Amino acid sequence: MNHVPPYMMAERKNCMARKLESINGGAAGAAVKKIGDAEVKDAFRTIIKWIGEDPDRDGLRDTPQRLVRAYREYFCGYDEDPEQVLRKTFSEVDGYDEMIVLRGVTFESHCEHHMAPIVGRAWVGYLPDRRVVGISKLARVVEIFSKRLQIQERLTAQVANTIDEVLKPKGVAVVVKAAHHCMISRGVHKRGADLVTSRMLGVFRDQAITRSEFLSLVNAEPSE
Ligand SMILES: [Zn+2]
Repeated sequence: MNHVPPYMMAERKNCMARKLESINGGAAGAAVKKIGDAEVKDAFRTIIKWIGEDPDRDGLRDTPQRLVRAYREYFCGYDEDPEQVLRKTFSEVDGYDEMIVLRGVTFESHCEHHMAPIVGRAWVGYLPDRRVVGISKLARVVEIFSKRLQIQERLTAQVANTIDEVLKPKGVAVVVKAAHHCMISRGVHKRGADLVTSRMLGVFRDQAITRSEFLSLVNAEPSE
Protein backbone atom coordinates (compact mmCIF):
# COMPACT_ATOMS: atom_id res chain seq x y z
CA MET A 1 0.00 0.00 0.00
CA ASN A 2 2.65 2.52 0.99
CA HIS A 3 4.98 2.26 -1.95
CA VAL A 4 6.38 5.55 -3.06
CA PRO A 5 6.75 5.42 -6.84
CA PRO A 6 10.39 6.03 -7.80
CA TYR A 7 9.52 9.12 -9.80
CA MET A 8 7.97 10.64 -6.70
CA MET A 9 11.24 10.15 -4.83
CA ALA A 10 13.07 11.93 -7.62
CA GLU A 11 10.56 14.76 -7.63
CA ARG A 12 10.88 15.13 -3.90
CA LYS A 13 14.63 15.45 -4.12
CA ASN A 14 14.26 17.98 -6.91
CA CYS A 15 11.91 20.07 -4.85
CA MET A 16 14.43 20.13 -2.01
CA ALA A 17 17.37 20.74 -4.31
CA ARG A 18 15.63 23.65 -5.97
CA LYS A 19 14.83 25.18 -2.60
CA LEU A 20 18.48 24.97 -1.56
CA GLU A 21 19.51 26.55 -4.84
CA SER A 22 17.17 29.43 -4.32
CA ILE A 23 18.49 30.00 -0.82
CA ASN A 24 22.14 29.73 -1.75
CA GLY A 25 21.62 31.37 -5.09
CA GLY A 26 23.17 34.78 -4.43
CA ALA A 27 21.36 38.07 -4.71
CA ALA A 28 18.09 36.75 -6.10
CA GLY A 29 17.83 34.10 -3.38
CA ALA A 30 18.74 36.59 -0.68
CA ALA A 31 16.09 39.05 -1.83
CA VAL A 32 13.32 36.44 -1.60
CA LYS A 33 14.54 35.03 1.71
CA LYS A 34 14.22 37.90 4.16
CA ILE A 35 14.50 35.81 7.31
CA GLY A 36 17.83 34.05 7.70
CA ASP A 37 18.40 30.53 8.98
CA ALA A 38 20.04 31.87 12.17
CA GLU A 39 16.86 33.60 13.18
CA VAL A 40 14.78 30.47 12.59
CA LYS A 41 17.32 28.38 14.52
CA ASP A 42 16.97 30.76 17.46
CA ALA A 43 13.21 30.41 17.28
CA PHE A 44 13.50 26.62 17.49
CA ARG A 45 15.95 26.96 20.41
CA THR A 46 13.33 29.08 22.16
CA ILE A 47 10.68 26.40 21.62
CA ILE A 48 13.02 23.72 22.99
CA LYS A 49 13.61 25.82 26.11
CA TRP A 50 9.89 26.54 26.42
CA ILE A 51 9.20 22.79 26.44
CA GLY A 52 11.47 22.63 29.47
CA GLU A 53 14.49 21.14 27.76
CA ASP A 54 18.12 22.17 27.61
CA PRO A 55 18.95 23.06 24.00
CA ASP A 56 22.65 22.69 24.76
CA ARG A 57 22.62 19.07 25.83
CA ASP A 58 24.27 16.61 23.45
CA GLY A 59 21.18 15.16 21.83
CA LEU A 60 19.60 18.54 21.19
CA ARG A 61 22.54 20.71 20.21
CA ASP A 62 22.05 20.21 16.46
CA THR A 63 18.28 19.92 16.59
CA PRO A 64 17.47 23.55 15.67
CA GLN A 65 19.68 23.28 12.59
CA ARG A 66 18.04 19.96 11.66
CA LEU A 67 14.63 21.54 12.08
CA VAL A 68 15.60 24.38 9.76
CA ARG A 69 16.46 21.81 7.08
CA ALA A 70 13.32 19.80 7.74
CA TYR A 71 11.06 22.86 7.56
CA ARG A 72 12.71 23.94 4.37
CA GLU A 73 11.76 20.59 2.89
CA TYR A 74 8.22 20.58 4.32
CA PHE A 75 7.51 23.95 2.74
CA CYS A 76 9.50 23.88 -0.46
CA GLY A 77 6.30 24.23 -2.50
CA TYR A 78 6.22 28.00 -2.18
CA ASP A 79 9.06 28.51 -4.62
CA GLU A 80 7.36 26.75 -7.47
CA ASP A 81 4.51 27.52 -9.76
CA PRO A 82 2.42 24.44 -10.54
CA GLU A 83 0.84 26.19 -13.52
CA GLN A 84 4.28 26.61 -15.01
CA VAL A 85 5.01 22.90 -14.55
CA LEU A 86 1.98 22.04 -16.67
CA ARG A 87 2.26 24.92 -19.10
CA LYS A 88 5.84 24.11 -20.04
CA THR A 89 5.18 20.49 -20.80
CA PHE A 90 1.76 19.89 -22.23
CA SER A 91 1.49 18.62 -25.76
CA GLU A 92 -1.34 19.01 -28.18
CA VAL A 93 -2.77 15.62 -29.07
CA ASP A 94 -5.72 15.25 -31.33
CA GLY A 95 -7.91 12.23 -31.04
CA TYR A 96 -7.13 10.85 -27.57
CA ASP A 97 -10.37 11.19 -25.72
CA GLU A 98 -10.22 8.64 -22.93
CA MET A 99 -9.95 9.37 -19.26
CA ILE A 100 -6.41 9.66 -17.85
CA VAL A 101 -6.11 8.78 -14.19
CA LEU A 102 -3.12 8.88 -11.90
CA ARG A 103 -3.96 6.77 -8.88
CA GLY A 104 -2.90 7.01 -5.28
CA VAL A 105 -0.15 9.62 -5.45
CA THR A 106 1.34 9.78 -1.98
CA PHE A 107 1.87 13.16 -0.41
CA GLU A 108 2.77 14.72 2.91
CA SER A 109 1.51 18.15 3.77
CA HIS A 110 1.01 20.25 6.91
CA CYS A 111 -2.22 21.70 8.21
CA GLU A 112 -2.27 25.43 8.49
CA HIS A 113 -3.99 25.35 11.88
CA HIS A 114 -1.46 23.28 13.80
CA MET A 115 1.38 22.74 11.33
CA ALA A 116 0.82 19.05 11.97
CA PRO A 117 1.37 16.50 9.17
CA ILE A 118 -1.38 15.57 6.76
CA VAL A 119 -0.41 12.25 5.17
CA GLY A 120 -2.39 10.84 2.33
CA ARG A 121 -2.95 10.00 -1.29
CA ALA A 122 -4.47 11.75 -4.25
CA TRP A 123 -6.29 10.39 -7.31
CA VAL A 124 -6.11 12.75 -10.23
CA GLY A 125 -8.08 12.26 -13.41
CA TYR A 126 -8.94 14.29 -16.44
CA LEU A 127 -10.61 13.86 -19.78
CA PRO A 128 -8.34 15.65 -22.25
CA ASP A 129 -9.44 17.97 -24.96
CA ARG A 130 -6.30 18.07 -27.13
CA ARG A 131 -3.82 18.91 -24.35
CA VAL A 132 -2.11 16.18 -22.34
CA VAL A 133 0.85 16.09 -19.95
CA GLY A 134 3.10 13.33 -18.69
CA ILE A 135 1.66 11.73 -15.56
CA SER A 136 4.70 12.72 -13.52
CA LYS A 137 3.65 16.34 -14.04
CA LEU A 138 0.29 15.62 -12.42
CA ALA A 139 2.20 14.19 -9.48
CA ARG A 140 4.35 17.32 -9.38
CA VAL A 141 1.27 19.51 -9.08
CA VAL A 142 0.13 17.47 -6.05
CA GLU A 143 3.65 17.70 -4.64
CA ILE A 144 3.98 21.46 -4.99
CA PHE A 145 0.62 22.27 -3.43
CA SER A 146 1.18 19.78 -0.62
CA LYS A 147 4.51 21.34 0.35
CA ARG A 148 2.69 24.39 1.65
CA LEU A 149 0.56 25.07 4.70
CA GLN A 150 -2.76 23.60 3.73
CA ILE A 151 -6.22 22.49 4.51
CA GLN A 152 -7.19 19.36 2.61
CA GLU A 153 -10.20 20.98 0.96
CA ARG A 154 -8.05 23.70 -0.58
CA LEU A 155 -5.32 21.28 -1.63
CA THR A 156 -7.95 19.24 -3.48
CA ALA A 157 -9.45 22.29 -5.18
CA GLN A 158 -6.07 23.77 -6.13
CA VAL A 159 -4.93 20.60 -7.86
CA ALA A 160 -8.17 20.34 -9.84
CA ASN A 161 -8.38 24.02 -10.73
CA THR A 162 -4.78 24.23 -11.91
CA ILE A 163 -5.19 21.28 -14.26
CA ASP A 164 -8.46 22.74 -15.47
CA GLU A 165 -6.99 26.16 -16.16
CA VAL A 166 -3.87 25.02 -17.97
CA LEU A 167 -4.95 21.92 -19.89
CA LYS A 168 -8.52 23.07 -20.49
CA PRO A 169 -9.75 19.49 -20.53
CA LYS A 170 -13.33 18.32 -20.82
CA GLY A 171 -13.26 17.61 -17.12
CA VAL A 172 -11.07 17.13 -14.05
CA ALA A 173 -11.62 14.93 -11.02
CA VAL A 174 -9.53 14.88 -7.87
CA VAL A 175 -10.07 12.77 -4.78
CA VAL A 176 -7.83 13.12 -1.74
CA LYS A 177 -7.81 10.76 1.23
CA ALA A 178 -5.63 11.71 4.16
CA ALA A 179 -4.98 11.26 7.86
CA HIS A 180 -4.54 14.42 9.88
CA HIS A 181 -1.98 14.27 12.64
CA CYS A 182 -3.59 17.20 14.41
CA MET A 183 -6.45 14.77 15.09
CA ILE A 184 -4.18 11.85 15.97
CA SER A 185 -1.52 13.24 18.28
CA ARG A 186 -3.53 16.06 19.83
CA GLY A 187 -7.12 17.27 20.16
CA VAL A 188 -9.54 14.39 19.86
CA HIS A 189 -6.74 11.76 19.57
CA LYS A 190 -8.39 9.61 16.95
CA ARG A 191 -6.39 7.21 14.84
CA GLY A 192 -7.48 5.38 11.72
CA ALA A 193 -9.94 8.00 10.50
CA ASP A 194 -9.25 9.60 7.19
CA LEU A 195 -10.79 12.59 5.54
CA VAL A 196 -11.99 12.26 1.97
CA THR A 197 -12.38 15.34 -0.20
CA SER A 198 -13.16 15.64 -3.87
CA ARG A 199 -13.45 18.19 -6.61
CA MET A 200 -15.25 17.37 -9.86
CA LEU A 201 -15.23 19.73 -12.80
CA GLY A 202 -16.72 19.61 -16.29
CA VAL A 203 -17.89 16.19 -17.45
CA PHE A 204 -17.01 14.64 -14.08
CA ARG A 205 -19.48 16.99 -12.47
CA ASP A 206 -22.13 16.82 -15.19
CA GLN A 207 -22.10 13.16 -16.23
CA ALA A 208 -22.84 10.55 -13.59
CA ILE A 209 -21.38 7.75 -15.72
CA THR A 210 -18.00 9.49 -16.15
CA ARG A 211 -17.88 10.33 -12.47
CA SER A 212 -18.65 6.77 -11.42
CA GLU A 213 -16.04 5.38 -13.82
CA PHE A 214 -13.48 7.60 -12.12
CA LEU A 215 -14.68 6.72 -8.62
CA SER A 216 -14.51 3.01 -9.37
CA LEU A 217 -10.83 3.52 -10.26
CA VAL A 218 -10.34 5.41 -6.99
CA ASN A 219 -11.86 2.60 -4.97
CA ALA A 220 -10.09 -0.22 -6.81
CA GLU A 221 -6.93 -1.67 -5.33
CA PRO A 222 -3.79 -0.10 -6.76
CA SER A 223 -1.95 -2.24 -9.30
CA GLU A 224 1.57 -2.95 -8.05
ZN1 LIG B 1 -4.67 20.85 12.16
